[in-house]
Amino acid sequence: MYIPSLFTRKGPRVLLIQIKDDACDFCGCCVGVCPEDAIELQEARITLIEDRCTNCAKCVWVCPFEALIFLKPGAGVLPEAGK
Ligand code: SF4
Ligand code: SF4
Repeated sequence: MYIPSLFTRKGPRVLLIQIKDDACDFCGCCVGVCPEDAIELQEARITLIEDRCTNCAKCVWVCPFEALIFLKPGAGVLPEAGK
C-alpha cells in the first residue's frame, strides 16, 4: 500500500489546516502571520493556497475566533479545559 509522505521539498502533500467558514470573522490576523503568503482574504471570503502552505500552524494559533483547525491530533488543537 502506498502511503504518501506529508511533506515535499516545496511543501506539504496533505493540507492539515482547515477553515471553519462559519466561525471566521474575516479579521485578517492569519493573513498577516502566514510566512508563506498562503492565505488570501477577499472581503467575506478566505482561501488557503494549498501548494504554498507548510502546515506551520501559525495561523491556527493566532486566530482569535478558532476558525482554523490543525488536523493533526494533539499538535495544533488546544485541549479542552478539564481534559
Ligand atoms: S484569523 Fe481567523 S477569523 Fe481572522 S480571518 Fe483568519 S481565519 Fe478568519
Ligand atoms: S499553516 Fe502556516 S503556512 Fe499554512 S496557511 Fe497557516 S500560517 Fe500559512
